[in-house]
Amino acid sequence: SSRLFHPEDIVIRTPHTVIDNNHLIIMAGPCSVESREHILKMAAVAKQGGATVLRGGAFKPRTSPYSFQGLGETGLKYLREAADLNGMDVVTEVMDDEHVPLVAKYTDIFQIGARNMQNFSLLKAVGKTKIPVALKRGMSATIDDLLNAAEYIAAGGNQQIMLIERGIRTFDNKYTRNTFDVAAIPVLQQLTPYPVIADPSHAVGRWDLVTPMAAAGVAAGAAGLMVEIHDDPKRALSDGPQALKPDTYLKMTQQAQAIRTLM
Ligand code: PEP
Ligand code: MN
Repeated sequence: SSRLFHPEDIVIRTPHTVIDNNHLIIMAGPCSVESREHILKMAAVAKQGGATVLRGGAFKPRTSPYSFQGLGETGLKYLREAADLNGMDVVTEVMDDEHVPLVAKYTDIFQIGARNMQNFSLLKAVGKTKIPVALKRGMSATIDDLLNAAEYIAAGGNQQIMLIERGIRTFDNKYTRNTFDVAAIPVLQQLTPYPVIADPSHAVGRWDLVTPMAAAGVAAGAAGLMVEIHDDPKRALSDGPQALKPDTYLKMTQQAQAIRTLM
């Protein structure tokens, strides 16, 4: 996973998206797939803001076992349908190595969540596939921990990897859910050939800070943004407080693309 062995940028191509450090792509959607109707509605909003990748969790790694755990395969079906109807790709989390074949049937990109960044059997399992992997930085992971996690995937033969900075735990996470490590974006780009994506939603956990942190991520050179959206955040089944409503999302993506053109 080091630039020393792979000096050229790795370019990831999914049916509707080219992901590399020279462009800005948008991955947007609700935290969880909540219902067929809802994901269809959110996919249209995501697309309107220029997203080419639809996100949505069907297997959710919730902090509490009593929180909504996702719709499972039914959610994957709804997500795929919503993406196809809008000419978009799918990114969704796979939590368990046993689920890799199931999730592979529906997704264009595997998401490995922060809580699973060092789930080595999962990393090895996706490393044996040819499907691109969006690897999130663990909330207490150093940059070297993240690089070693990526190496587990690459060692299996799959170098279609993108890295996601989604905020880390620091001594002060009273006002924000995590601390957005914006410098990690150019650092990772120097150290690895992989595209680096910024996830301002999980980084701050508050919708009102998502737009400025998205701007910071783009200004730092991110190859893409992963953002959570919801038309009725108060009723969201997960991560409502950080979801952008459609109008805010549309403004955020316009601003982000404008910043990108300055670079
Ligand atoms: C998510 O993308 O909804 C998610 C659970 O993210 P993370 O793994 O970064 O917490
Ligand atoms: Mn979420």
